[in-house]
Amino acid sequence: MDDVEREKELAGNLKRVRNRIAEAVRMAGRSEEPELIVVTKYFPASDVRLLAGMGVSEFGENRDQEAGPKAAELEDLNPTWHFIGQLQGNKAKSVVRYARAVQSVDRQSLVSSLARAMENEQLRRASVGQSSRERLDCYLQVNLDPHNDEAPQGSGRGGARPEDLQGLADVVAQSPWLVLAGVMAVAPVRDDAAAAFDRLRGISDNLTLSYPSATAISAGMSADLEQAVAAGATHLRIGSDVLGARATVR
Ligand SMILES: *Cc1c(COP(=O)(O)O)cnc(C)c1O
Repeated sequence: MDDVEREKELAGNLKRVRNRIAEAVRMAGRSEEPELIVVTKYFPASDVRLLAGMGVSEFGENRDQEAGPKAAELEDLNPTWHFIGQLQGNKAKSVVRYARAVQSVDRQSLVSSLARAMENEQLRRASVGQSSRERLDCYLQVNLDPHNDEAPQGSGRGGARPEDLQGLADVVAQSPWLVLAGVMAVAPVRDDAAAAFDRLRGISDNLTLSYPSATAISAGMSADLEQAVAAGATHLRIGSDVLGARATVR
């Protein structure tokens, strides 16, 4: 497929997704549309460039090995990158060089790694005469699957247990380098997405009692964006319905 054809395909897909979001917002009686994050994992930097030309400014990636080089290739575009995959502490240093947000914060040791990485990143920037960067938005990833504490690795279905969130929120909020943005979740495979996202909404409401500005709710993928919008999602993470089917399951 050449670039012109690909551009047409992406534009058509994007339009259908935007229409679905608008319709879901209307059905839910909401006044504001959630933010669309297009998940570009598996797809080349050239697709990100085409989508940016269509007005998309927020992108999601789930592996540093892939996202790092892609972000470097797109430095001139400077899109907003959301890191949405399971993250090892030793990758924090690389991720904070390009990511504006980490949506998969699921344990206190990762918070420490991110805070340290941000501090070092500021020092690095100062040493090469770059301006300092904004603080890193952190979303607490919640495990919504009551039947499954140990989600399979790489499934994107990890997350902290709801009872551990308050402690996790506290350590994020204490760091001068991090901003507690809100919560993120993936609907469990076997469960009803609407019910799962309603639980997430309750968890978010509870979090905002202690942290009133942590209002973000990142929920909703290609298959369940309508349910997420109905439950009050502020950020949707849409991959395959914009870019097409991914080659294999990672
Ligand atoms: C891949 C991925 C998405 C996008 O999923 P689609 O079904 O392709 O829309 C959203 N969130 C996370 C955490 C992902 O890993």
